[in-house]
Amino acid sequence: MITNSTPAQLEKTNTSGTKGKIYLVGAGPGDPGLLTLRGKYLLQRAEVVVYDYLANKKLLDYAPDNAILIYAGKKGGGLHAYTQEGINQLLIDHGKNGKMVVRLKGGDPFIFGRGAEEIEALVKEGIAFEVVPGVTSATAAATYAGIPITHRDYTASVAFITGHEDPTKKQSNIQWDKLATGAGTIVIYMGIKNLPIITKKLIKYGRDPKTPVAVVRWASTPEQHSVEGTLETITEVVRKAGVKPPALVIVGDVVKLRNTIDWFEKRALFGKRIVVTRTREQASELVAQLNENGASCLEYSTIHIEGVEDYQILDNSLNNITTYDWILFTSLNAVTYFFKRLFDLGLDSRNLGGPKIGVVGKTTAEELLKYGLKADLIPKEFTGEGLAQSLLEQDIKDCKILLPRATKAREILPDTLNKNGAEVTIAPVYQNLPPKGRKHELRDQLENGEIDLLTFTSSSTVTNFLSMVDAQSQQELHQLLNKVAIAAIGPVTAKTVIESGLQVDIQPERYTIVDMVASIVSYYEKLQKGK
Ligand code: SAH
Repeated sequence: MITNSTPAQLEKTNTSGTKGKIYLVGAGPGDPGLLTLRGKYLLQRAEVVVYDYLANKKLLDYAPDNAILIYAGKKGGGLHAYTQEGINQLLIDHGKNGKMVVRLKGGDPFIFGRGAEEIEALVKEGIAFEVVPGVTSATAAATYAGIPITHRDYTASVAFITGHEDPTKKQSNIQWDKLATGAGTIVIYMGIKNLPIITKKLIKYGRDPKTPVAVVRWASTPEQHSVEGTLETITEVVRKAGVKPPALVIVGDVVKLRNTIDWFEKRALFGKRIVVTRTREQASELVAQLNENGASCLEYSTIHIEGVEDYQILDNSLNNITTYDWILFTSLNAVTYFFKRLFDLGLDSRNLGGPKIGVVGKTTAEELLKYGLKADLIPKEFTGEGLAQSLLEQDIKDCKILLPRATKAREILPDTLNKNGAEVTIAPVYQNLPPKGRKHELRDQLENGEIDLLTFTSSSTVTNFLSMVDAQSQQELHQLLNKVAIAAIGPVTAKTVIESGLQVDIQPERYTIVDMVASIVSYYEKLQKGK
């Protein structure tokens, strides 16, 4: 057993309503992937989550839908939503109420996080607690800026200090004279405001003014920004670059290794703000792959997908499914909604025996496999035309073909098949609707020049995007998208972009998400080389 609370115990404690427990959990430095497994486990079971400014809000998605989420504030400049006493009281109250509370704090709760004060207050009231460490921002900032905080050739010691304390005060808790040369690497939390005084102190007490210094803001996130200088110059470098809190200051010869090790900010799409326009359900793969390459993704569902109201045609076809020669799936959604209906009717994949199955591309084939079915036909070109062509290469005369698809879709596939003697049944199984809400946010971001690239993965994402932007004229649209690049997944989507009066900058040869991301990466690599 790793900890003293097993799942069964946790449940027992809380459903009985007799005893609450407060879990002080380190949220890590910013990247949600740096939360510990223990932290995630507890968040998934929390009844109340009290979280700080520095804890990534995405982590709250792990909490159950009915969990109470309380923002406790604490922004560097002193904008506290709650006082420390207020937070302590909040934890005590929920603890006494028998709740399972996760107190989520940025980085590690016991490193400049006032975690101990919260625990002391709980101990006084006899409330149970547990502490889960987190990746502290000092190690994350160093690592993500390409700096090892220790290195055999450079330093054997490291000190974590707070720069929040006024270094001019007489009774300082920091012995600057000893620190200046006593620790090989010095990492300063909350040090931006006092940076001029801190650097002067270190020089005054004997640290070489030429000692390299790095300052890293929003470490481990797509917004990470780092600058470099020396003890003598860093104040000016930070001022000029406008680096604001939250940022860490790393002082020491290890900073020199940045030239060799810097990796995070060197990823091809680092700092690029990319709009991903897919349905909620489908966005994740594209977003994940863009994130892997360092991009910051702004997800907009430009399509809202729903089943249809009337499944009559599909139901009739399913009743006579053995009379069909082919079932064709031209999108992932068609697969999803087809099977949803099949299951709703109390049937499953075994009831589809008979017809062969054709799909438009690899992604659709992979989706189909989830239902235990292998596609018999995948065209070389992943489009409706490509699928029609591949079918024509077989004998389809007098073939009965079932085509479950969206209510509105291109007619090229059924038209071509019908013309060549097949009998196609179009069965609408889902509909593409415009999305709800968030219209203004997207427009604001475009107006403020906060977007570098738009990605379109189907024609309807283009038309729905345009309706979201709601430009009153072509001129206005061009103005809004003046500095924005556009990626289209395939020729059909590209055609819709061009017909809207826009230009396609990126288009992969094969119409898959993987290829689209690869094309985006090489587009930016070329731009970078061209500079
Ligand atoms: N308990 C936290 C520190 C809280 S003090 C931890 O272990 O990391 C707040 C300070 O932490 C900020 O002023 C800043 O100096 C630093 N900090 C926290 N997150 C940061 C991040 N993502 N990037 C850079 N500095 C960060």
